[in-house]
Amino acid sequence: MSLLAVGSVAFDAIETPFGKVERTLGGAASYFALAASHFTPVRIVAIVGDDFSAKERAIFRGRRIDLAGLEQVPGKSFFWSGRYNQNMNERLTLATELNVFAGFQPKLPESYVDSSFIFLGNIQPNLQLSVLKQVRRKPALIGLDTMNYWIERTPADLRETLKHIHVLVINDDETRQLTGEHNLTRAAHKIFKMGPRILVIKRGEHGALLVHSKFLFAVPAFPLEEVRDPTGAGDAFAGGFMGYLASAGRVNEKTLRCAMVYGSVLGSFTVERFGIERLLKLTRKEISARARRFSRLTSFQL
Ligand code: AMP
Repeated sequence: MSLLAVGSVAFDAIETPFGKVERTLGGAASYFALAASHFTPVRIVAIVGDDFSAKERAIFRGRRIDLAGLEQVPGKSFFWSGRYNQNMNERLTLATELNVFAGFQPKLPESYVDSSFIFLGNIQPNLQLSVLKQVRRKPALIGLDTMNYWIERTPADLRETLKHIHVLVINDDETRQLTGEHNLTRAAHKIFKMGPRILVIKRGEHGALLVHSKFLFAVPAFPLEEVRDPTGAGDAFAGGFMGYLASAGRVNEKTLRCAMVYGSVLGSFTVERFGIERLLKLTRKEISARARRFSRLTSFQL
């Protein structure tokens, strides 16, 4: 089924103990779409400047990624730069240059308004809501990502947007910050009162947890020998999660459990190389093989 994603399409500069890239295609919507397109066609809503060339367009074109909603305006694209410490669990943001992203007013092309699976990537909460208002059919599933910046600066707008969504996909710090509750299970119950009925907590190297009022599901991070660059892992996780659900076309306990595994699979591949490099070379066969390894990794009998 159709999957729509709004978020950043950017140029990133990344530095980790394994190397450095000065300028590579990034942005949350890019990672999300590249991951999700392995499962289902993706429609992107985003903005870029005139520095987004035919070369970048070609990266998306060869895949099931629709760019009808990618607005291009004069000026520079969003630019982000970050550096990781030795053990890669801390990231220092060196630059966030909004550029054309500062004036972003998402506009859905006519061909997108029937989208049934929607992912509202990490942008201003009132813009996330404006995307939902443009959708004409009742969506099957609406997911949302946000970050500490919006939790602190636009809490009222975020609360309003949360009333309209089904799945909140955030990390553990954000879960605690949003609810003022350290215990994640108790935090989930507070989030359910805000609107979402499913909470997916991304916990980096500790895996991810899905909390639903009727069940809990935990998935580990895949034990990798080499992690080169964690950038975009969370967005690729969300892409694998939503992409799988959109391809299944049904949201129930079974599909949600599998979606968590596919989210982890896509996140784990992303960190093996710099930026989007690994996602570009990834095959459906590799995805299935790693999903089977997840199954063996976590299977036991009592
Ligand atoms: P993650 O590692 O999951 O936090 O995602 C990193 C990606 O998010 C990078 O490719 C950045 O271009 C993008 N990004 C970083 N900061 C922001 C922001 N404030 N708003 C939107 N996208 C961002």
